[in-house]
Amino acid sequence: MTMKISRRGFLQVGGFSFAVAMMLPRVAFAARNSLKSMRTGVQPGNKTRLVIETSSKPSYSLSYPENQLVVDIANMSADSSVKPTLASGTLVSELTQVQAGDHLHIVAKLRKPIAKLEKSQIMLLEPNGDNDYRLVFDFSASATTAQKIVESVTAAATTKTPPKKHIIIIDAGHGGKDPGCIGKGGTREKDVVLSVAKRLQSKLNDAGFKTYMTRRDDTYLKLAQRAEYAEQKKGDLFISLHANANPSRSVKGFSIYTLSEKASDEEAKKLAESENAADKIGVDGFTEFERDVRAALSSLQQHAVAEMSEEYANGCARAFRANKVEAQPGPSVRHAPFAVLRSTVPGALIELGHLSNSSEEKLLKNPDHQNRLVAAIVRSIKNYNFDV
Ligand SMILES: [Zn+2]
Repeated sequence: MTMKISRRGFLQVGGFSFAVAMMLPRVAFAARNSLKSMRTGVQPGNKTRLVIETSSKPSYSLSYPENQLVVDIANMSADSSVKPTLASGTLVSELTQVQAGDHLHIVAKLRKPIAKLEKSQIMLLEPNGDNDYRLVFDFSASATTAQKIVESVTAAATTKTPPKKHIIIIDAGHGGKDPGCIGKGGTREKDVVLSVAKRLQSKLNDAGFKTYMTRRDDTYLKLAQRAEYAEQKKGDLFISLHANANPSRSVKGFSIYTLSEKASDEEAKKLAESENAADKIGVDGFTEFERDVRAALSSLQQHAVAEMSEEYANGCARAFRANKVEAQPGPSVRHAPFAVLRSTVPGALIELGHLSNSSEEKLLKNPDHQNRLVAAIVRSIKNYNFDV
């Protein structure tokens, strides 16, 4: 998996500024990146935002020396003409450039310690009209101030601190009065996916993840309830398990979906319509369906969640192929407006196979095959880069 190559972005310009820059000899190198600007701002919730603008897509890594956040950017030289713009009321008291070989270190001196940044706190914005690439970091002072910085420094040096348990939300699709699709042999989607979900939970727990299931029995849940549950539990990843049906009984194989407002193809669009139709089964109708969690999110946050989901989904497709699970013809990762994926938690909807295909219906019921599917999903989650 690719590491340390950024995501999502945004900008905020602040008040006064002061700068310290060090000029070092320029090293000739192909594909140089250059620093365009650096600034801080205050975000809602008293968060500090640090924005670093670069001419090309930055390749970077982060480190946390005492009371500092250091952004190490490859292929870049210090530029004394770039003065930082520092807003008042942020955690950053000073921003400096320090050349380290062919890398430029942007050193943010911090007023208070922070915890190691998570993926969700980092964004990379693509260039738009007035801006080049922008690398954006949002952070607050850590709760247990001095302790946290010691922890993160120690973790970097010795990796002795036990890693944070990542939270996986497992969503077995359908349930109760909604059977999902039904195979010719009578196999119901809701039963297959619940069985796979339980196996998955057990294996993920063994692998050291913290897991929650949206349902553990044959219960009907609305799609928005599932999405909300993932948010309440502060999930790091949301996995919605389904099995597919196709009018053509010869079609088989898995496929993986992420959320987008536009479907990537006609088939994905139809699938989203049929999966979303699960909500129409509810007696109290459509009101909840219309509550769009994402509507409350900034486009930036949506972009962040989408990018993380895409990364997960691609890794998941690779893991399925590596575990010799047959793929549906066409792209393995597709996009469509699935209601259950509308939340702040990155994730994917996995169609494990086709119940409409008689050989695959048999496979999907088979415990060995279910274990193979679970092994692929566990692999994809282990490979997913939760942190930066
Ligand atoms: Zn389904």
